[in-house]
Amino acid sequence: MCVDHKIICRCGRAAASFNLRDEIMPVEVIRGLYCPGCSVGIALDPGSMIADNGWVIDYDMDIAGFASLNRVANLPASGVTAEFLFDEGYCTWKGLYPGDAEDSAREKAELLELSRQDRLKYIREFRRWTLDRIARLAGMGWRKAQAADLD
Ligand SMILES: [Zn+2]
Repeated sequence: MCVDHKIICRCGRAAASFNLRDEIMPVEVIRGLYCPGCSVGIALDPGSMIADNGWVIDYDMDIAGFASLNRVANLPASGVTAEFLFDEGYCTWKGLYPGDAEDSAREKAELLELSRQDRLKYIREFRRWTLDRIARLAGMGWRKAQAADLD
């Protein structure tokens, strides 16, 4: 199931789409979202927040704890953490960064044109495109791109 959860940041100038793995977390687990513009100067609480390339997600850890009870198989012994929510996909960007879903759809549409002309070349180009963009995004500092397995 893939439901689009779009959240607007605190200052209202940006938004990000979220992916909630297996829909275990309710969208209310996101207590606050800060874009690079409105995250400036906020006190980063590692107990409830994840910082990713200027963006900050503030999680409601009470909701996270309650929602994960008996429903998350790989829950760490220490309990649910902000890193766990983000890195394991229970509440994370849709795609590799905010806006990725829209950007990659546009880039893919350009590649799709090639698939009509040369199928084999398209497959090669698609793989190269995937690897190139992950490397580029990792270089920019995006957490999910840096954690991506390139095999
Ligand atoms: Zn903002």
